[in-house]
Amino acid sequence: MEASPLKKLEQLEFSLDSVTDLSSSPPASPSSPAVATFSCVDGVTELRFLQSDSTHCFTFDLASAQLFKLGTVQFICVSDDNSEERSFSKGVNIKFGSEKDSKEFCDSFEEWRKDALVPGSSIVSASNSKFDEKIEASSAKMYFHYYGQLLHQQNMLQDYVRTGTYYAAVMENRSDFAGRVVVDVGAGSGILSMFAAQAGAKHVYAVEASEMAEYARKLIAGNPLFADRITVIKGKVEDIELPEKADVLISEPMGTLLVNERMLESYVIARDRFMSPNGKMFPTAGRIHMAPFSDEFLFIEMANKALFWQQQNYYGVDLTPLFGSAHQGYFSQPVVDAFDPRLLVSPPTFHTIDFTQMKEEDFYEIDIPLKFTSSVCTRVHGLACWFDVLFDGSTVQRWLTTAPGAPTTHWYQIRCVLAQPIYVMAGQEITGRLHLVAHSAQSYTIDLTLSGPAYSSYPVVDAFDPRLLVSPPTFHTIDFTQMKEEDFYEIDIPLKFTSSVCTRVHGLACWFDVLFDGSTVQRWLTTAPGAPTTHWYQIRCVLAQPIYVMAGQEITGRLHLVAHSAQSYTIDLTLSAKMWGPGASQGGILQSSTGKFDLKEPYYRMSQPQAYPAAQEPPLPPQPQLNPQDIQIQSDDFEEELLQKPAQNASTQL
Ligand code: SAH
Repeated sequence: MEASPLKKLEQLEFSLDSVTDLSSSPPASPSSPAVATFSCVDGVTELRFLQSDSTHCFTFDLASAQLFKLGTVQFICVSDDNSEERSFSKGVNIKFGSEKDSKEFCDSFEEWRKDALVPGSSIVSASNSKFDEKIEASSAKMYFHYYGQLLHQQNMLQDYVRTGTYYAAVMENRSDFAGRVVVDVGAGSGILSMFAAQAGAKHVYAVEASEMAEYARKLIAGNPLFADRITVIKGKVEDIELPEKADVLISEPMGTLLVNERMLESYVIARDRFMSPNGKMFPTAGRIHMAPFSDEFLFIEMANKALFWQQQNYYGVDLTPLFGSAHQGYFSQPVVDAFDPRLLVSPPTFHTIDFTQMKEEDFYEIDIPLKFTSSVCTRVHGLACWFDVLFDGSTVQRWLTTAPGAPTTHWYQIRCVLAQPIYVMAGQEITGRLHLVAHSAQSYTIDLTLSGPAYSSYPVVDAFDPRLLVSPPTFHTIDFTQMKEEDFYEIDIPLKFTSSVCTRVHGLACWFDVLFDGSTVQRWLTTAPGAPTTHWYQIRCVLAQPIYVMAGQEITGRLHLVAHSAQSYTIDLTLSAKMWGPGASQGGILQSSTGKFDLKEPYYRMSQPQAYPAAQEPPLPPQPQLNPQDIQIQSDDFEEELLQKPAQNASTQL
């Protein structure tokens, strides 16, 4: 009988002389020839017997199946049958045509059964380690390949802040190492093992899973002062065994945001496997520090990357269907760099991870509630994070920090940028949550939520400085002599402006005037900003998301007023600015911002200070301070003034 491996590894077939159901009564007479198939489907390893006339099929889960040899070519295969909550066994009597087939079947049965008990053991690898259970083989392969290269170890060694701090922490705490047994968890080049040996360790076990273990052996062998006190063990800390318990664990398991690479889990597994109860861990604890930041340039840089997909005519192809995905893609990538700590808008907060206490599973999901108080009035673009670790030595406590402003390390800092920035005033609270979920590619998915104060959906009523306008106003005329009553139910005003300056546009300012069209004199009553203030003041609809414009750029939109039965209107406002710069002619709305406001309940802002420091806005050309109470200007004059305003100063800013 020949074994015919149909699909390598996934399926294996054997021909049988007969297969008989043991539970049939009266006992069945030996059946016609049959085929036995080992297979693995969706992680379940099965043995199936199919009679060649297809009358009966018997399936056994190999995890619970047993094979009993009755003779040289005959077996009984039995297993529990829990398929329908039945608690008795099922079995078949099988007979082979030759001893050779019978033996091959028997060997295969053992092989496949092993695989059923330890998934992947015979098919992919022979390991059943804690590491392999949770980490994708392809990720681990790349990871250890990376660390197997001297160039990457050199990169870490050359981070003098890192390596120097480890050296200081060990040397300052010699008493923790002298005469002690040490395990170096993920030894890499073996540098920390040699520090421990220099500090007088009795013996150091340098455990390294990558090919770097060979280089470490070579390096250590070339340093005879401590070579005989260091043993390099190639393997994962999850899998290897050590001849004795350790007094001290030393390791450098930190990744970006402290937890990236998921090596801290190996560090605590090593703690539980190798460290004696009162042992010391170097480092002992870590902290993730977080603070909201404001970085307009970074935000624009990221938003600009996706602009490519705004083109409607890219060699005749409209790219805009992918704009949303590209935009989202860029903003879902955390930014790693060293930033100026002055970009932080509030004092940071931190989350502590105690390596001596943390359980391995505690790293699977890390949930950090956030609460900050903004020190400034600004736009918050996201959350900046960094970490530090503590070496809690018996002699000296030493911190290794990767904070912004501190000497830069190869970890830099990390920032998560929000696609939608939030606005805060000084003293206002920013709340949120940083939720990290580990995944099998040795990293984390980061969910960040940040919320500022809630935005009102009411228009703001006050008298504002007309210099806040960024373009000449437009107007919509309502002729009381012509207008029908129903025409007031819904008023739709298309908007089109040309920005005089380079700035952020925060919303739409509105006011009105009425004409007394007397036969002798035409007189206007105006409520314009800059004109003598009336009890109507002006009204402004502030958008939650401002739009950016360059001088000369067009702003379009729509003001849509819908009357309601509470004697007022609901206001729908949309403002959009087209793409600016190369490619603009190909069209595409770059930014669009909308808001809904209830005119019935405006926010009267009269108690607010009326001085407008220009610091946050593009600088205006020097001009005497306008006092709206003293200077009478017609709306027409006013229009002219704005038109004359030179915009070059501002536009060179970006
Ligand atoms: N200790 C060295 C290297 C630090 S980099 C130094 O400070 O310079 C982390 C090292 O740990 C890498 O070389 C990596 O291959 C190894 N490593 C990561 N996880 C491991 C594990 N589970 N078992 C053994 N080594 C591991």
